[in-house]
Amino acid sequence: MSITLPDSVGWPVLEPGMVWLAGAGPGDPGLLTLHALNGLRQADVIVYDALVDRRILDFAQAGTQLDYAGKRGGKPSPEQRDISEHLVALAKAGHRVLRLKGGDPFVFGRGGEEALALAAAGIPFRVIPGITAGIGGLAYAGIPVTHRDMNHAVTFVTGHDAGGTVPDTLDWAAIARGSPVIVIYMALTHLEDIAAALIAAGRSPDEPAAIVSHASQPAQHVLETTIAAMAQEAAKAGCETPAILVVGPVVRLRGGLDWLCTVLPKP
Ligand code: SAH
Repeated sequence: MSITLPDSVGWPVLEPGMVWLAGAGPGDPGLLTLHALNGLRQADVIVYDALVDRRILDFAQAGTQLDYAGKRGGKPSPEQRDISEHLVALAKAGHRVLRLKGGDPFVFGRGGEEALALAAAGIPFRVIPGITAGIGGLAYAGIPVTHRDMNHAVTFVTGHDAGGTVPDTLDWAAIARGSPVIVIYMALTHLEDIAAALIAAGRSPDEPAAIVSHASQPAQHVLETTIAAMAQEAAKAGCETPAILVVGPVVRLRGGLDWLCTVLPKP
């Protein structure tokens, strides 16, 4: 299928010396935005991170330089400063640079740090939001992050700070009290601590929770569990990263909304 962008829209041009900082969504290439697609087609260098689904790179022009700048817990990865400096150097060398990040670049993705570095260096840039795993990834598991009868608030939390532990700046008691639905990124290695913090803050151990691994990708796997059981069940089920955790009553809606299983080809 070839996708034509209609001329009537006036699509922006990725000029030499410019960086577009774009979200690639959680995986399924169909969740790319048209601006991201337009950037993929114009870039002569694409700097992508570990969470970008490889199928998305197929949208690039043949001959495009593909630079991996993966950051993955436990594996050697370039320092954030090095990535920012690399982007600045590419732009200064006159490249048309697409910086492609998983999900949305400004949601727990260090896109803010990179944008600040570009701004400080005087590099013209554009930000292209993407579908974040904590919303779109859950939708692929049949879990709406809000439902009028269940929650009027949702909180997005990172389970992991720069040092790799559950952030101690988080006021778990306030979050647990104030937010019926809590979506936690980078939670998989800290499930036990997170469960303990939520239960200590007054959430019921039996409250539903779900862990969605590889959301919107062919390997998508969903574990429906409870706060108390989630750490043990995730280990038993072999849940893999990347994975998003959601806690709250909306998880129950999946029972009627697991649309993905109805559209996948039967094995
Ligand atoms: N900017 C990204 C988040 C980066 S932090 C976004 O907006 O989605 C990395 C975390 O995002 C992962 O540890 C995981 O919690 C979550 N994540 C990203 N892609 C995912 C996917 N396809 N499935 C499940 N979780 C995902």
